[in-house]
Amino acid sequence: MTTNAALMARRNAAVPRGIAHATTIFAARAENAEIWDVEGRRYVDFAGGIAVLNIGHRHAGVLAAIRDQLDRYTHTAFQVVPYEPYVALCERLNAQAPFNGPAKTILFSTGAEAIENAIKIARAATGRPGVIAFGGGFHGRTMLTMAMTGKIVPYKARFGPFPSDIYHVPFPVPHQGIGVDGSLDALEFLFRADIEPSRVAAIIIEPVQGEGGFNIAPSELMVELRRICDENGIVLVADEVQTGFGRTGKLFAMEHYAVEPDLVAVAKSLAGGMPLSGVIGRAAIMDAVEPGGLGGTFAGNPLACAAALAVIEAIGREKLLQRSVELGERMRSRLAAMARRNDLVPIAAIRGLGAMVAFDIVKERGTFAPDPDTTKRVTVRALDRGLVVLACGVYGNVIRILVPLTASDAIVDEGLDVLESALRAA
Ligand code: PMP
Repeated sequence: MTTNAALMARRNAAVPRGIAHATTIFAARAENAEIWDVEGRRYVDFAGGIAVLNIGHRHAGVLAAIRDQLDRYTHTAFQVVPYEPYVALCERLNAQAPFNGPAKTILFSTGAEAIENAIKIARAATGRPGVIAFGGGFHGRTMLTMAMTGKIVPYKARFGPFPSDIYHVPFPVPHQGIGVDGSLDALEFLFRADIEPSRVAAIIIEPVQGEGGFNIAPSELMVELRRICDENGIVLVADEVQTGFGRTGKLFAMEHYAVEPDLVAVAKSLAGGMPLSGVIGRAAIMDAVEPGGLGGTFAGNPLACAAALAVIEAIGREKLLQRSVELGERMRSRLAAMARRNDLVPIAAIRGLGAMVAFDIVKERGTFAPDPDTTKRVTVRALDRGLVVLACGVYGNVIRILVPLTASDAIVDEGLDVLESALRAA
């Protein structure tokens, strides 16, 4: 039998350091919200492949759809010989778009690719260059999306120079002392100091910041952004790569707000573990690009499209939006009890939208002083005890939970028990 350590040694010799690992184990198999490593040890999965598995590992509907597609064709290139699963998926996404009026959708493979293309579309539609993003936001690792990402280490350090005309304003995080007014004042100042609104193509926002620490955009912010975009002809882009596909209790997190985005980028849980992303947008904006300006060899792979159609069906049939809300409440009430305990490391700012749940690990009870070292120890102790869970946040002190929405109460409770024990041991 091979071991995790033996594989890690081979990995270290064959793969560069630049891709880091949240765990020290190698996967052997996985099922719904459980993973087994190559040594046969079982783990509860609170990471879901970084928000990709809202409907769990190896969902039967997804596997059946992929198998069926596998027997027909696996690739023709949509730009060469198009195929129905791509069109059918775009029809489904258009019908469920979080805005009124005609929608169109284009598919890609990764989240970063969807974001890049949303910006290309916004620039073509407005004839303007500027992009405004938020501090702490994460939009990807390609040159443009890295420039839009609002965190230097490890994502941007030593990779510049970056594309120009990308600007950041602070994202409101009340417990870190930044309110909605602070963000909006910074945006107003940006318009005076750095770029006039008439040169801005897009404002892009994650409704709940993912890598940045599961910070939820307050509705006053979203309403004001919509107003500013409307008044200045700016395209409002929602990055729903991490918030999408039921994670927050709605298919799209933007459905929690009274205002609508113009473009929505989706990826991750869209195709239940297959690489697929897309931009869903108002038809008039989406059609601004000339034929041939968008695409990609692998974009909208047929196996991934078939999987995505099965994901959408499963979310409806298994009532996973409702489940997301219930799971969120279950996890937050358990975490609230943990926050009151003196025998655990101090945790604070328990938050979440639906099942997109997180909390801070802080130096002292009653403060919000980030403790990234303890946070790291908590994830390590959790793994030792059989739980895969991820940290995030600009200060590296946020524990986030991305358990599949298909997980049973028993598995979720088991994972929370392990988390509690890791908080005691750290
Ligand atoms: N946007 C958000 C909000 C994300 O969370 C991520 C991935 N963590 C991306 C974009 C980039 O997606 P990908 O890694 O698939 O390129």
